[in-house]
Amino acid sequence: MTLPLKAGARAPSAADAAATADREGASAPRRLPAVDTVLKTEAARAAQARHGRAAATAAVRHLLDVRRAALAAGAPPDPSALAAEALGAAALALLDAAAAPSLKPVINLTGTVLHTNLGRAILAEEAVAAATAAMRQAVALEFDLAGGKRGERDDHVRALLLELTGAEAATVVNNNAAAVLITLNTLAAGKESIVSRGELIEIGGAFRMPEIMARAGTLLREVGTTNRTHMKDYAGALTPDTGLILKVHTSNYRIEGFTAEVPARELADLARAHGVPLVNDLGSGTLADLAAYGLVHEPTVREAVGEGADIVTFSGDKLLGGPQTGFIVGRAELIAQINKNPMKRALRVDKIRLAALEATLKLYRDPDRLAARLPTLRFLTRTAADLAAEAGRLAPEIAARLGAGFTVGVIACRSQIGSGALPLETLASAGLAVRPADGSGRALAALSDALRRLPVPVIGRVEDQALVLDLRCLDQAGDLLSAFDALGTAHRGRTRHGLA
Ligand SMILES: *Cc1c(COP(=O)(O)O)cnc(C)c1O
Repeated sequence: MTLPLKAGARAPSAADAAATADREGASAPRRLPAVDTVLKTEAARAAQARHGRAAATAAVRHLLDVRRAALAAGAPPDPSALAAEALGAAALALLDAAAAPSLKPVINLTGTVLHTNLGRAILAEEAVAAATAAMRQAVALEFDLAGGKRGERDDHVRALLLELTGAEAATVVNNNAAAVLITLNTLAAGKESIVSRGELIEIGGAFRMPEIMARAGTLLREVGTTNRTHMKDYAGALTPDTGLILKVHTSNYRIEGFTAEVPARELADLARAHGVPLVNDLGSGTLADLAAYGLVHEPTVREAVGEGADIVTFSGDKLLGGPQTGFIVGRAELIAQINKNPMKRALRVDKIRLAALEATLKLYRDPDRLAARLPTLRFLTRTAADLAAEAGRLAPEIAARLGAGFTVGVIACRSQIGSGALPLETLASAGLAVRPADGSGRALAALSDALRRLPVPVIGRVEDQALVLDLRCLDQAGDLLSAFDALGTAHRGRTRHGLA
């Protein structure tokens, strides 16, 4: 909501009432109270205490203008809406709503663990604490405390990244899209980048490989076909104009059936023989072997480095479970070139994310406790049996809060990892299916709409004429119950005002 707060809104003067009466003219209704009168009501006093005198005055003026215009346009006067108390309350509501954060915490019951539109990974408490500390104080961001000289921001995570990936060198940028952009620009601007037609991906949010390549100033040299690309296709495309060979993890789709791709290890040999680097964009990538946690194996960064790629890029806020960042790891000489690219300055990360990242990476040193401490892994490893038990406990509580208009059942469902990790793998999960008792689609739409408008919105998915609430990412059951309590209040409020 935007509130027309006039610059330099002043405190009301005694002349205001007269001015108001003046503007209304002799024939206009004189039923509107003066600004001053409204500001003296209890609600308007609360508005001034909470939001300041200038904002409260501007809100009252705005409401009076709206009411006056409505009356002038012939709207029937509603004494209850024109009373000073009502206007004070409306001003308070307006200011409270405008003050509520736009970036609202929500309860993600979509069943997608790494939901890009819901902010991807939830950070570990260790990362939250580190980020908070970095926000409150000056930090030795680019300052070598031992020598008293200038340091580099990568210093804080470089050793950890090398330890966890086996790479020779590493650097961090804004996100993986940035990692790919700066890598292509540094190593292949004005030259050709060879990539299989089966790997020309589009990731949500307009990350399309051909367009990124164009912006990086490299010429896309597509080889092979959509379903099959062979060694001879890559070999035949190598010329003195080749800048690099790019392998892209097909994060969000699979080509199945009559297919062929060249393994990274063989591409690395080909690239080396020709004297060009092999870049492997892993996308999600992971630092831990997910199979060790009972999940399907996703290529680890260590494996990609071990296969001989000269550069590997991956995201910080996908499976890794950290803040939004992009990693470039690989050969020291190439990383040094990337760090000299002026783009690096434009794509660097700030101290807050760097602090959260360092804390997140440190959790990987203790794989035994990783699933307990890293929310992404904790969510992914919850069993369907545990989730079904939780659903069984919650169903009657939610049903009681929704009343007779809805039924709440426990259902088996499937969660997704999201953000392009293992696109075809789903996880057996459990949740609640909320159905209108009369089967009305309108009631279902109204409920999911009301849940989205709560102070702490609850986001589920509509499926088979039910609102499905997958419990995989619900950390505190109490949060969901409180949200539904607020739904009751909102609903009763609407009924009272005759809007239900
Ligand atoms: C997700 C992804 C990207 C983009 O990464 P962001 O961290 O979202 O910028 C690039 N390439 C692949 C293969 C991906 O999966």
